[in-house]
Amino acid sequence: DPTLNVLSEDWHNSYNSVFGDPFCLHSANYLIRLNTPEVCKVVSTGKVMQAMAEDNGRQTHIIQATNVSDFSLAILFDYLELTKITSQATIKAYIPTHKEEMGQKFLRKSADIINYFSCQFGSYPYEEFKLVFVPMQGFYGMEYSELIFLRDEFLNKNYDLNHSEFILAHEIAHQWWYGLVGNDQIKEPWLDEGLANWSAYKYLDDIKGRKSSSANNLTKNINLVKELTDMGSTTEYYQIAYSGGEAFWFGLEEEIGTDKVFKALRRYLAEYKYKIATTPDLLSVIETEAHKDMEYYFNKWFK
Ligand SMILES: [Zn+2]
Repeated sequence: DPTLNVLSEDWHNSYNSVFGDPFCLHSANYLIRLNTPEVCKVVSTGKVMQAMAEDNGRQTHIIQATNVSDFSLAILFDYLELTKITSQATIKAYIPTHKEEMGQKFLRKSADIINYFSCQFGSYPYEEFKLVFVPMQGFYGMEYSELIFLRDEFLNKNYDLNHSEFILAHEIAHQWWYGLVGNDQIKEPWLDEGLANWSAYKYLDDIKGRKSSSANNLTKNINLVKELTDMGSTTEYYQIAYSGGEAFWFGLEEEIGTDKVFKALRRYLAEYKYKIATTPDLLSVIETEAHKDMEYYFNKWFK
């Protein structure tokens, strides 16, 4: 979709990467007019305000989305739509037919996860949230505003639920860290990926009784200052942005306690909702909630 360019020190140039998400997007409003065959189901960011049938087997949709980081769209054929209404949002899952039982499971899990993050960080502000299962190669999920894509193999009954549930929680966490608080994913990929991973682990630890924190000590004190364009491989990207990013947060819990970490994240969301935040913005929020000089800790991660 067309998006507004971002001006920081300079105008951002588009950059296409073989790994990672190379985006930095303003929060914006979208009004989309879309013409599709009537037999297809349109799933997108925002809300369909109007759907007008034409006499040639086609349909025009008027779709509106407010305060979103992007506008994303899927046009589906032969898919089931499952719906669950919660106090946070109307959640819809789009699954290939004959996979209804597993689809319901993911719908319930999504409701639990959105509820958990809403309580911990701040409420989910959109009316709808959608998950769409599609064939994927090389990765397992992708986040967009109000909409995530997940690998369709997750719907196989023998697929490892521990893995699919982690990916689900990670992609939903991006609704907060990427969707609501934007960041430059080329310059500071650790910001949204590290937070999405740590948030997913917190959900699994707190709600599912898993214990993830101790496994992450190996990546302690990795240098998080690295731009996507300077990373040589997918391995390096995952090690810095994901493993390094989550380790920063687990380490911070040990330094200032979990309550203060959540308080800092609530403040981070409140101050930077619908804006683009940077590492210094985040560190300053952490220092405010920690009520102490955090230089000694930050210096271990940003060299
Ligand atoms: Zn991610």
